[in-house]
Amino acid sequence: MSSHGARADVPGPLRAVELIRVRLPLVRPFRTARGATSHKDALLVHAVTADAEGWGECAAEPTPGYSGETLDGARLMLRDHLVPRAFAGHDFADVRGNAFARAALEAALLDAQLQATDQSLAAYLGGTRPTVEAGVAIGITDDEKELRTLAAAYHAEGYRRIKLKIEPGADVATVAAVRAELGDDVTLAVDANGAYTLEDASTLAALDRFALQCVEQPLPPDAMRAHSELAHRLTTPIALDESVTSATIARDAIALGACRVVNIKPGRVGGVREAQRVHDVCLDGATAALIGGMLETGIGRAVNVALAALPGFTEAGDLSASSRYFVEDITEPWVLIDGHLRVPTGPGIGVSVRPDVIARSALARETLRAES
Ligand code: MG
Repeated sequence: MSSHGARADVPGPLRAVELIRVRLPLVRPFRTARGATSHKDALLVHAVTADAEGWGECAAEPTPGYSGETLDGARLMLRDHLVPRAFAGHDFADVRGNAFARAALEAALLDAQLQATDQSLAAYLGGTRPTVEAGVAIGITDDEKELRTLAAAYHAEGYRRIKLKIEPGADVATVAAVRAELGDDVTLAVDANGAYTLEDASTLAALDRFALQCVEQPLPPDAMRAHSELAHRLTTPIALDESVTSATIARDAIALGACRVVNIKPGRVGGVREAQRVHDVCLDGATAALIGGMLETGIGRAVNVALAALPGFTEAGDLSASSRYFVEDITEPWVLIDGHLRVPTGPGIGVSVRPDVIARSALARETLRAES
């Protein structure tokens, strides 16, 4: 396994970093307990070194609903603190918080490094799978018939896991309807994005009869002890997403019995190397791990797919084809092959970026240059 260090270890000097804010329309609006959106905003990070180029994607949201970090805040963090550190050859060890911003720059620098050394990201991370299982998350809908139809269509497309977003008032009956539609053999999960409290334990326990893979983030992110109390009252495994922002917290959550599954997203934990450490903690703790998603474009998706090739990711997560989100992706489209996505074997993130789509979807771009 490769270095776990946080160094901005580019092979040649970093010459420029371009920050590109893009907006892609979603094929259908996506609603969670924390809000709804009809388009995907992302900040692309394009690193140019003396001998290679690399791409990263900041998966923070425009609003502070999922995490406290926002896309505009991440842009300023990158512009004023992280990119200047990288130009000076420094790492980000003294930077607290700002996980999504750190992850985006780390990804771009690592992609450039791996492009220069002709190694795939999956191989660098220690990936062992040629393909990874695909899953899909379905947002909250007002119309139960629409939800059943969508779930059946995704299942027919080959998705190996269907995850439903839930919130108080749109939970037990919703899951019953989808379970009835799909039958008992389909892997079904729910995600509350922290919308419940311990007082709702009996409602959450009513989900036990649907044999769900997991109930993800039922309680707010910092409610670690409450999650471990809730775990005693459910047979459904609890998965943690928003709560787990580092490998240290993952280890504590597992020790407390707060979760039996960890949803790992590189942006939330500050990068692909920390995500690898969270994976290692899960493997050591006999805890299931899966790869989540932030509706990433093809660039961020490539990082997620490479991570999902690691041996501890034994359960299908939220990795979907490009068509689930976008009419046209920033990269060549990710496609489903018998319910799987292929892990790229080319250097770096292993996908190519489409300048024409970036030009069409860019809202703003700025280039930062190293002083020479
Ligand atoms: Mg989640």
